[in-house]
Amino acid sequence: MGYDVAAIKAACQVVDMVQRNTTLHRVASTRGGEWAGPCPRCGGRDRFHATGTWWFCRKCHPKRGDVIEYMMWSERVSFVAACDRLAANAIVKAERAAPLARFPRDGAESGTSACFS
Ligand SMILES: [Zn+2]
Repeated sequence: MGYDVAAIKAACQVVDMVQRNTTLHRVASTRGGEWAGPCPRCGGRDRFHATGTWWFCRKCHPKRGDVIEYMMWSERVSFVAACDRLAANAIVKAERAAPLARFPRDGAESGTSACFS
């Protein structure tokens, strides 16, 4: 089974994932916003930057990565494991965001996420 990488990236904001590991503060509000704070791996004060779609650490990961790369880097897991965790997270978020979807509709309630459609 493959992963819909585009759907995972669309459903998972990089900054949301980063905020689980470190505390960032907003440094810009343009184009969806940009956040900065201590790097979850090497520390510092504001060397780690993230937006909804990319992140980097000035010291240990100067190249911009996407949300899947962040999961691989922060959790030290494989690409597949990173997609797995992000997909699970996307499903949780989708259920929270659409509580009305729990009402039966045409008996087609499957419990699966749009992520895998
Ligand atoms: Zn770092």
